[in-house]
Amino acid sequence: MKQKVFLFSEGNKDMKTLLGGKGANLCEMTNLKLPIPQGFIISTEVCKEYLKKQKKLSNSLLNEINLNIRKLEELTGKTLGGNNPLILSIRSGAPISMPGMMDTILNLGLNDDVVEILSIKYTREFAFSIYSRFIEMFSNIVKQIPREKFTEIEHKLKHNKIAEKNKFYEILTEKYKSLYKKNFQEDFPQNPEEQLIQCILAIFNSWNNNRAKLYRKLNNIDDNMGTAVNIQEMVFGNLNNASATGVAFTRNPANGENKIFGEFLINAQGEDIVAGIRTPDEIKNMKNIFPKLYSEFINYATILENHYKDMQDIEFTIENEKLFILQTRNGKRSPYAAIKIATDMVKENLISKEQALLRINPKDITILLHGSFNKDSIEKAQILGKGLGGSAGIAVGKIVLRSEDVVDSDTILVRTETSPEDLNGMSIASGILTAKGGLTSHGAVVARSMGKCCVAGCPTLSINLERNEIFLGNNLLKEGDYISIDGYSGNIYLGKLKIDLSEEMKEFYEIIDWAKSIKKLSVRMNADTPEDCIRGLKYFAEGVGLCRTEHMFFKADRIEPVREMILANTSEERRNALNKIKPYQKDDFLQIFKIIKDKPINIRLLDPPLHEFLPNTPKELQKLSKSMKISLAQIKERLQKLEEHNPMLGHRGCRLAITYPEIYITQCEAIIESALEVLKENITVNLEIMIPLISSLEEFNFIKTIIETNLKEKYKEDLNKITYSLGTMIELPRACITANKIAQSAAFFSFGTNDLTQTTFGMSRDDSGKFIEEYKEHNILNKSPFETIDIDGVGYLMKLAINLARETNPNFKIGICGEQGGDPESIDYCHKLNLDYISCSGFKIPIAIIAAAQSQLKK
Ligand code: ADP
Ligand code: MG
Ligand code: MG
Repeated sequence: MKQKVFLFSEGNKDMKTLLGGKGANLCEMTNLKLPIPQGFIISTEVCKEYLKKQKKLSNSLLNEINLNIRKLEELTGKTLGGNNPLILSIRSGAPISMPGMMDTILNLGLNDDVVEILSIKYTREFAFSIYSRFIEMFSNIVKQIPREKFTEIEHKLKHNKIAEKNKFYEILTEKYKSLYKKNFQEDFPQNPEEQLIQCILAIFNSWNNNRAKLYRKLNNIDDNMGTAVNIQEMVFGNLNNASATGVAFTRNPANGENKIFGEFLINAQGEDIVAGIRTPDEIKNMKNIFPKLYSEFINYATILENHYKDMQDIEFTIENEKLFILQTRNGKRSPYAAIKIATDMVKENLISKEQALLRINPKDITILLHGSFNKDSIEKAQILGKGLGGSAGIAVGKIVLRSEDVVDSDTILVRTETSPEDLNGMSIASGILTAKGGLTSHGAVVARSMGKCCVAGCPTLSINLERNEIFLGNNLLKEGDYISIDGYSGNIYLGKLKIDLSEEMKEFYEIIDWAKSIKKLSVRMNADTPEDCIRGLKYFAEGVGLCRTEHMFFKADRIEPVREMILANTSEERRNALNKIKPYQKDDFLQIFKIIKDKPINIRLLDPPLHEFLPNTPKELQKLSKSMKISLAQIKERLQKLEEHNPMLGHRGCRLAITYPEIYITQCEAIIESALEVLKENITVNLEIMIPLISSLEEFNFIKTIIETNLKEKYKEDLNKITYSLGTMIELPRACITANKIAQSAAFFSFGTNDLTQTTFGMSRDDSGKFIEEYKEHNILNKSPFETIDIDGVGYLMKLAINLARETNPNFKIGICGEQGGDPESIDYCHKLNLDYISCSGFKIPIAIIAAAQSQLKK
């Protein structure tokens, strides 16, 4: 029979899938001989089975649990419900950490008899305080009685100020028990073993609570992994003033600084810290209060970091001057800290460059590039207050006070403290500001894992939900007012501060350098303007993968001749109009060539349906009629002729050139003339001219012949001075299927995966927003194919096209220029397909470089 329950001494850190992260690490720490309260783990397999069948636990499992209780009783010398009572914590623990998303129940094993025994062993006040906590947690987590009901009772009782203060918890316990009885017409369960089984089932069920489900969705975590249940002896941080509980990171999780960082609370238990109810003390002050325990703790923290070779997030408890470690895991960190810690650890010889690279989430890089507040703008700004820098980054947005009111990213969620119910709002807002809670509070922890800016625990912030306003010190602000917050310094400013994009950290460049030396895929940029080109080069683009020429047509100074060209009735009229446009295009190319120099540049000839350029307003029509010297009625008639039922599949791309070859001819002339011109400055451009929307070899050849004949005729020997090739964008299924033929004549392919996805699915990208969310909800699609390449369909067509093209020519050059070219998962696929390059927008280039290196390393 397969083992389903494991003592802490029976597992290790590599058993996360089976024992959950928390459990596997408790085992590992037990093996390392750290002071761990002992216990056992019920595996994730049991949870999966239970959730699938929604049955009771099998007898064999119950026996296995019982057996392990006996073993634990032996280890601890205590017994469940006995004279020397064993008190337990029941802790969830998934294979991938989901902090605070599932439940934990503390102080199990208490009942009316045990509480009396503990009253003698410790104090009556303490014994009843943990009994009341247990009743509250059990009723809430197992029986779903809202927490507020208990808090209400507690507040009322505190208000009443009863004479005998040490009777407080005793009375509270009585009141909690009556609440329980009122709800369920039965007494609070007294049998510890029965309590235990109910808690185990509740933890299994907490795998599917709403906040856990949402967290998994946001973090792309598999819904089928299930949680393990850790059953562990309790240690009491709330026993007396020689007791405490705390959380610490071996390095700063907000900015990565190599300094122990954390918080502790004297005489407190468990969730007291994380809930942000009492603001805790900084860990460094523990040195003064518990000097010996502090150095002991630092020693364990160092052992753990060196052992796991990563920053650790450690939970500990001190019971009557004895230190216990309750949990360790690789700590969640801000994107900024992730990069700092990874590069530092390489310098400390703890990990290799390759390991460092694999630890970085490429998407985090974009968050880094969000920049910092402009220095001048900071100086001029009014500081409203200061909290703790909970998660690095900066944010500007409107104050929103309730999570459900956060509808876009132009917001900052301002809360007294956050709870898991705020997850959705937090994920949408651009920043989070809280009044209470420290750096390990829920708000800060979750913000860091989302890569979101967070300022936590601002003591001068108070929120009035009835009036929808807040006070920051003496400043009154209304919901909807703009503030700017800085998650590095914790500063809160009035209004919208200016953001500088260029202040990246030096570690960023180190990482990029390592990645560049490892990756095989070349990374180019999609750039239509000189400004795009400058930005992309700054982010290390190795060329232009897509330069779209239509954007040049849209500019105000040239739209007029473009419209004339479209509405022309004769070839001559069209040529005249094109001759007006040509100098503009030449000028654009000149500027771009001077920036890009000899790096490869792929220029796509005119692609979109012509109606996109046409006039709409009566004024524009009037103007056009004047300049073209034809009547308004004639204009309207010609416009009508151009109308299409389905422009995306209509007269566009290379089809335009088949009807109006003059367009591509003129564009090519502008390209070649500009190339000849910069040649005089010794710039040799490396041109790829790309014809869009090709579906057959015949189409391609027809256009190629027209273009080449004209260029040869016009530029004669001069043409030999220019390096250029003619290729095509692959964006139609037919092109993929006949790629071997097209490759006979085209010099290169570039996958236009936006259109290829549209034409493969028969689904318009612009309209897909209306239904794609539902596809995701029902698991028909798990991602939008417009963001990540649909490997089975679109990806298969790509693979087919590549194989066919390289049958024709083994060295055939192939790239990708669709939106997906900046998506790490899609990049990994392109790497596997052996593409020569990927191309994406300037901001995404660092992501692409890191993703490309990771693909190479994962090989
Ligand atoms: P989470 O996964 O949300 O961090 P945990 O299982 O770690 O939940 O439990 C939350 C808190 O409960 C811990 O941080 C710790 O303070 C307290 N706790 C859990 N187990 C014990 C224990 N055996 N003794 C004392 N406190 C405990
Ligand atoms: Mg924990
Ligand atoms: Mg296209």
